[in-house]
Amino acid sequence: MLLSIAMLSIFGIISHKRGSEHRRTVEALNESEQRFHAIFDNAAIGIAKVSTDGQFQEINKEFCRIIGYTREEVLSQKLGFQHITFPDDLETCWDLAKKLLAGVVQSGSVEKRYVRKDGTVVWVELSVCLLNSSMGLPLCFITSVCDITERKQAEEDTKLSDLLFQNGTEAMTITDGDGAVLKINPAFTKLTGYTADEVIGKNPKILQSGRHDRAFYQKMWQAINTTGRWQGEIWNKRKNGEIYAEWLSINTIFNQDGSVHRRVALFTDISEKKKSEELIWNQANFDFLTQLPNRRMFHDRLELEIKKAYRAQLSLALLFIDLDRFKEVNDTLGHDKGDMLLKEASLRLCACVREIDTVARLGGDEFTVIVGGLNDLSNVERIAQEILKKLAVAFQLAEEFVHVSGSIGITFYPKDGTEVEELLKNADQAMYDAKRHGRNRYSYFTPDMKKAVQMQMHLVNELRTALAEHQFRVYYQPIVELATGSVRTAEALVRWQHPTRGLVSPAEFMPVAEQCGLIVDIGDWVFREAVSQAARWRISQCTEFKISVNKSPVQFQSQGSNHSAWFAHLANLGMTAQSIVMEITQGLLLDASPALSDQLLEFRNAGMQISIDDFGAGCSTPVFSNQIKIDFIKIDQSFVRGLTAESTDSVICEAIISMAHKLGIKVVAEGVETEEQRDLLLKAGCDFGQGYLFAKPVPVEEFEALLCQEGGHSYLKRCSLGKFNLE
Ligand code: C2E
Ligand code: CA
Ligand code: CA
Repeated sequence: MLLSIAMLSIFGIISHKRGSEHRRTVEALNESEQRFHAIFDNAAIGIAKVSTDGQFQEINKEFCRIIGYTREEVLSQKLGFQHITFPDDLETCWDLAKKLLAGVVQSGSVEKRYVRKDGTVVWVELSVCLLNSSMGLPLCFITSVCDITERKQAEEDTKLSDLLFQNGTEAMTITDGDGAVLKINPAFTKLTGYTADEVIGKNPKILQSGRHDRAFYQKMWQAINTTGRWQGEIWNKRKNGEIYAEWLSINTIFNQDGSVHRRVALFTDISEKKKSEELIWNQANFDFLTQLPNRRMFHDRLELEIKKAYRAQLSLALLFIDLDRFKEVNDTLGHDKGDMLLKEASLRLCACVREIDTVARLGGDEFTVIVGGLNDLSNVERIAQEILKKLAVAFQLAEEFVHVSGSIGITFYPKDGTEVEELLKNADQAMYDAKRHGRNRYSYFTPDMKKAVQMQMHLVNELRTALAEHQFRVYYQPIVELATGSVRTAEALVRWQHPTRGLVSPAEFMPVAEQCGLIVDIGDWVFREAVSQAARWRISQCTEFKISVNKSPVQFQSQGSNHSAWFAHLANLGMTAQSIVMEITQGLLLDASPALSDQLLEFRNAGMQISIDDFGAGCSTPVFSNQIKIDFIKIDQSFVRGLTAESTDSVICEAIISMAHKLGIKVVAEGVETEEQRDLLLKAGCDFGQGYLFAKPVPVEEFEALLCQEGGHSYLKRCSLGKFNLE
């Protein structure tokens, strides 16, 4: 401002020079002008002389620096302030110019922006006055500008920080070096319920929930005092008394002397997050249906119990409980009822043990119980008995009453094993042992079980390669028509030609193959072999020749079994299903589900005959299906073995034969070893016989040799009419 006044006077002098004192005046003027230029050029503020229409007429160095143009550029390009003013600020500038020109104001000032030559924007504080001629006519504007970009930036930053502080979702407090609250933001009030009036000047301790002990705060302050900062989870209390979890971070701003200037605390409510974390944790560790610990949690608990037992030099017991026939409940009554049963069973299990013991559900109908801190292993027996007793009580599922039982396997730490997986495996094996021995009982793990399982695993591995390496053979055993001695059917019986062990009986490997599902592939292979063989014998021996093929229930249940492939194989060889008899077990008919009946019907409808194998064995009531017509029943060897004229077995055989005939079913007697047996069976009306008396199961070539043998051979003598023929 001072400068503009100085200039005013200088310009005034120039315009008012008088003739008489011309020389002196000119000298003085020159001197003055030099002085002026020195001041003008070196002034710390930007100065410009601007015509009334806005064009720059003179600018000083600082002005040039501010706008980023050289003096020459500005003057030669005849730049006006309108060319370099930030567009948004132009109107204000023109307004001020107009007011000055109209004499409304003598001078004015604005904060405005210039766009520099390089395009950047610079903030200035501008003061302007209008210079008039002696006649009072407007001559020019004298403008002085100060670069205030930095100040503006700082103001902007403060504004932004304030915005952040006011609108941030994180609660904030600023405290002084003594811990008194200086400032809080709205988020703080929202979170804690305290207004500024209620907390300013107070210590943030008012938020303490009482959930943390002294040690917690000591540790926190130790960190703050040494590093200036701390962050972590903390439980605090709202004004309404509600306790909540927050994530808090505290930072310190120090004075130059190292003393504390301010502490800034930022925190967010993480109660919801904690809740959902808890939910996720629960879902990950507990079984949704029964609320019991799940497999994962069971693992953790068992690990913990093992450690405890180790330290205390005590034992622990692990019980593996599997519900017997639970699948039947699920299949027949539906999953809802199945779920009800599982829930009830879990309650019963919990009632059998102490609070400190763990009952877990591993999945399905498998439960485990960990009984820790055992002095006396026999205590577990009582628990196992109690569990069996409780599970044996009828379950009421809505209007239905259901009976299930449990099979329990028991193993001990450290006697049987020291690792989680090992103990679990032991208990599982012992449970299977309980199942094998008739269910509704418990078995203790023994090292033999481990050996048996290892052997079984070995067998499974060997079986896998056996198929690929063509180690299976099919042997054939004739089924002889007792009245005529003719043979039109042979049973296909698989053998395993083991590379080192020699011929292995199916009785040894079939149960394992069934368990591991390999029976499906083996069964497929036997079926194909049998069909091919039937095709050959139909040409070489007898056009009606049939082969009886055993089919395990597992093959029916397996999703991998592919019946259409069987039919395709028959068709490929130009064979009909009539060339095959399918031997199934009674148990299969007993459990027949609609899907299974459909499969059987499909075979039946294609012309395949159905035979019930091992009839009478292990089943108290004979099962027949109205839906599926049965062609043969095979009286189990156990009845034939004890067959003498006076034996009960002969009564049973007669009864079976007469019942079967009434139902239009033909009867095959299995395991016929003596002529007496054969004669008694024949007398009882039995249609066919199969057994060592006629022939053992033999390879194809031997079988063919048998068929070719002529009268007089010892073999033929054993047949009913002294001959053994094909027609
Ligand atoms: P199975 O179906 O009851 O077969 C009859 C079994 O009795 C055969 O045992 C046979 O060799 C034997 N046997 C025949 N005549 C006599 C006799 O006079 N006295 C005695 N003591 N036994 C006799 P094998 O061949 O050891 O087969 C055992 C079981 O393995 C079969 O019992 C059958 O259930 C199963 N099996 C065999 N091959 C297959 C197959 O390809 N598929 C399926 N699923 N099971 C098969
Ligand atoms: Ca059979
Ligand atoms: Ca049989």
